[in-house]
Amino acid sequence: MKLITIRSQILEVVTRWKGQYPKPKTDKLATLRKLQKLDLTTATENDLKEIIGNSSWAGPRKCYECQGYFDEVLQVGEEPDYEACTTWLCKNCVEKALKLFPVLAEV
Ligand SMILES: [Zn+2]
Repeated sequence: MKLITIRSQILEVVTRWKGQYPKPKTDKLATLRKLQKLDLTTATENDLKEIIGNSSWAGPRKCYECQGYFDEVLQVGEEPDYEACTTWLCKNCVEKALKLFPVLAEV
């Protein structure tokens, strides 16, 4: 389980790009080179959008409990992959989930 933020998505974009395109050809390789030139500690989601051409690599993530989109979500389950069992929850839904446990509900 890990916290996914806008910054964590940006910091991991090069690693994720390499995972998605392990043997990049011309255009994917060019994109990789541009991503590698970014200072990922200060780059914005718009910087990634301009380089990649879409906003799917960094941005608000869906909470699969309440269906809202949030800058921070908790990823639970298996590492995301084809047919992996993974979901994402917002802080509010995690707090609601904690209250389902009887001992914690009394605190
Ligand atoms: Zn939620």
